[in-house]
Amino acid sequence: MKEISTKLLVIGGGPGGYVAAIRAGQLGVPTVLAEGASLGGTCLNIGCIPSKALIHAAHDFEQARAQAAGSSPMGIRVKEPTLDLAQTVRWKDGIVKRLTSGVGTLLRKAGVQVLHGWATVEDGKTAVVQLEGETVRVRCEHLLIATGSEPVALPSMPFSGETGGAIWSSTDALSPTELPKRLVVVGAGYIGLELSFAYRKLGTEVTVVEAAPDILPRYDEALTKPVLDSLKKAGVVLHLGCSVAGYDAKNGVHVRNARADEFALPADKVLVAVGRRPRTGFGIEGLQLTMAGRAIAIDAHCATSMRNVWAIGDVTGEPVLAHRAMAQGECVAEQIAGKPRRFEPMAIPAVCFTDPEVVLCGMTMDEARGAGVDVLEASFPFAANGRAMTLGAEGGFVRVLARKSDHVIVGWHAVGRSVSELSAAFGQSIEMGARLEDVAGTIHAHPTLGEAVQEAALRALGHALHI
Ligand code: FAD
Ligand code: NAD
Repeated sequence: MKEISTKLLVIGGGPGGYVAAIRAGQLGVPTVLAEGASLGGTCLNIGCIPSKALIHAAHDFEQARAQAAGSSPMGIRVKEPTLDLAQTVRWKDGIVKRLTSGVGTLLRKAGVQVLHGWATVEDGKTAVVQLEGETVRVRCEHLLIATGSEPVALPSMPFSGETGGAIWSSTDALSPTELPKRLVVVGAGYIGLELSFAYRKLGTEVTVVEAAPDILPRYDEALTKPVLDSLKKAGVVLHLGCSVAGYDAKNGVHVRNARADEFALPADKVLVAVGRRPRTGFGIEGLQLTMAGRAIAIDAHCATSMRNVWAIGDVTGEPVLAHRAMAQGECVAEQIAGKPRRFEPMAIPAVCFTDPEVVLCGMTMDEARGAGVDVLEASFPFAANGRAMTLGAEGGFVRVLARKSDHVIVGWHAVGRSVSELSAAFGQSIEMGARLEDVAGTIHAHPTLGEAVQEAALRALGHALHI
């Protein structure tokens, strides 16, 4: 068997693994990266990017349909639009291809050796990678596990996968060959809601079944209400506080409500989006690492319980977010190159790309209370923001939480059109220890949605200008 020796072996080429490998390469660390599927991982191939492409295409199609129906308040009128779904999927795949081949180029530029094959860990310093037609044993000083996560299946409804059956995972829902007439979505979390909006806008009848009494259980009611209202307005039917008991092709999804009454929801496809779980196996269990449930336990350096074995991203558990994985990857690479680093962010923004979008950055109100932080809270509504009016998007608000004692900002929350783009400002202000006065005293360009950020800070100080 061919053997390679390197300083760093990264297993997994998703946002965590490829960023770690690029940064290590930049710092002159000899690096090998093994990826069994496609560079870019879940995020670029079957997650963040394709879902946002589909969401955007669905939004444009819905706008065109509203214009054709004569309901555009801006007076735009078009003839009845049609959707070439195959072209939509090709467009989405084209974006994925550009990004994933870009990752390959960046890795090459950084001098990283990429092995396209599945790796099996033998011990903390050795893995075997199965390439097409050959097997390579890689010996390393540092092993970085970045194997990501996989969707959780319901025992009563296993994913149909390649058989083309009715039970979809998010991966299937991102590459439809035709639009289902009726889609039942199980789980009103990130994936369930983002894709419910997308399919509804494309013309599918969507019904959501959620076990918890609320959608997006981690967000407070003020943040979720605009999303709930928008789902209802779009005609999405919601069954909250209900569990699913199975599926049959004749009757559809069997649902049980809180009173244990059973009813059936007819469905052509069922998207199961009830969470993701860390992807282990591949000999990783043989290392007997300390685990945190199903996830690999790590410390503030992203180090596991075994010396020189590191883990990052989804395989280390919540929050399951690409930007967290990337930041961890960079952190580990720099430590291996000898830099003193810890992974201790003040805030990891979370964005739900629903319509409207929701952003949470830093502490929630409950977390602040739980930590005993006495906070000032203020919101500024987009209804009083000129830019929001010109976009026809006056719903929602920006909310700030700051310590009462010194006005240091501890949390930003927002719901509204395009608020995902405000998450950079939110993260920066918290990470830099900004006070309300810093944001209030910064000139924000007019007319922008960002002015609502400044106005929320001004309002917390008791002197908002435009409300
Ligand atoms: P992954 O991206 O899962 O990559 C792991 C890689 O490791 C995979 O390519 C896999 O093939 C490879 N691998 C695993 N085992 C082996 C092995 N033994 N040998 C070789 N290779 C191996 N996050 C966001 O922040 N924003 C979003 O908008 C967002 N949207 C999402 C939408 C959907 C539909 C889904 C499913 C997820 C979304 N996520 C989003 C989550 C995001 O995709 C993940 O948090 C992110 O991809 C995690 O990166 P990772 O590097 O830890 O793992
Ligand atoms: P999730 O944890 O966001 O939501 C799962 C939902 O399913 C929860 O509301 C839960 O109460 C519900 N549920 C669980 N079991 C159920 C059952 N048997 N019947 C009915 N409902 C049930 O999980 P997800 O939507 O699968 O997404 C997985 C992860 O991917 C997320 O945690 C998120 O971190 C990441 N993600 C992020 C984004 C983003 O950042 N915009 C987008 C998509 C996914």
